[in-house]
Amino acid sequence: MNLIQNTILTSLPANRKKTPSGWISFNAPCCVYNGETADKKKRGGLMTSADGTVSYHCFNCGFKASYVIGRKLTYKMRQFMGYIGIPEDTIRKLAIEAMREEEGDVKYEKKKFVTFKNKTLPKDTHKLDVWLEKYVANDLTEQQWKKIDGLLKYLESRGIGADWYDFMYSPDKVWDVNQRLLIPFYWRGEVVGFTGRMFEQSDKVKYYTDVQPGYVFNMDAQDWTRKFVIVTEGPFDAITVSGVSILGSEINDTQRELIDGLGRQVIVVPDRDAPGQKLVDQATEFGWSVAFPEWDKTVGDVSDAVQKYGRLFVLQSILKTTETTKLKIDLKRKMYG
Ligand SMILES: [Zn+2]
Repeated sequence: MNLIQNTILTSLPANRKKTPSGWISFNAPCCVYNGETADKKKRGGLMTSADGTVSYHCFNCGFKASYVIGRKLTYKMRQFMGYIGIPEDTIRKLAIEAMREEEGDVKYEKKKFVTFKNKTLPKDTHKLDVWLEKYVANDLTEQQWKKIDGLLKYLESRGIGADWYDFMYSPDKVWDVNQRLLIPFYWRGEVVGFTGRMFEQSDKVKYYTDVQPGYVFNMDAQDWTRKFVIVTEGPFDAITVSGVSILGSEINDTQRELIDGLGRQVIVVPDRDAPGQKLVDQATEFGWSVAFPEWDKTVGDVSDAVQKYGRLFVLQSILKTTETTKLKIDLKRKMYG
C-alpha cells in the first residue's frame, strides 16, 4: 500500500461498508459541490487495488476520479481528497510524492498497464436488490415476477446467496438475456463485460459472455489480507470462494501477468475433467501451486463442492491439499487422475 492510497483510505467517512465486488461505499461527499443534493444512500464508491490504484465513483452526481501509481495526481483526485477532508497542504505534499514516483522509479515505468474498455450492460439492467424490492412489493408484471422467481430458485438450487456478488437482471430479450442471471465483469470499478447464465431449463447455450481477451474475473474483489489467491475456471467457482476466474480452462499471457502481479501464492483449483488437466500443466510451468481437494466423485468443480459442503469447508479442503512443487503435483495427479 502506498502513501496516497493509505491517506485516502484513512480519511473516508466513518459510516461505510464493503460490497461483495470490492467497493467501499459511503455517503458521497462530492454531490453538494456539483449542484446535486447531499447523498444519503451511500452512493459513493471507492475501489483500491494491490498495485496502488484508487478509483472513486459517485453513482449520484456522476463525479469520478482515479489515481494510478506512477502517474500524476489528477485535478479531480485532488478535488475528491479535499471533499473527504484531507487538508490542502497534505494534498500538495502527496501530489509532489506522486510526481517523484512518476519521474524517479523505473520499476513503474517498465510496468505495462493492462486496461480493458468499458462496456454497457443489456438494456434496463439493475442489481438484484432493485428487482427484489419490486418482487417483494409485488411491483412487477406477471412475466417479470415469474422470471425473478425462477432466478431466485436457481440461485437457491445452487446454494449461492443472492448477496454473494453484484448479481443483476435485465428483461432484455436479445440473446435471451431475460432468461439469464447477469454477472457483471468489473475492472477497477468499471464494467468491462458480463456473462449471463441461463437460469431456466433450456437447450440454448448455458452462458452468453461478453469478455475481452486477457480479462481475469473478480480481481476487484480480492481481499488484500489474504496471502494467496485461488484461481478457478468458472465465475461461480470464483464467487463462492472469493477467488478469481480465468473464464475458461486455459490461461493466456495477460491473465498470467495479472495474476502474478498480485504478488501472492497462486493456488489453482482445476475442474475435474480433461481440460482441467491442461490447466495443471500450465500451473506447474508457471511455478504456481495446485490443490487436490478430496471431494466426492460427483463434485465437478468448486461451486458444486460449495453446494455440497459449504464455503468454509471447501476453502479449508483447498488449502489443506495444496501442493507447491512440480514433483508432488505430478504425484498427486497420478493418484487422483
Ligand atoms: Zn456525488
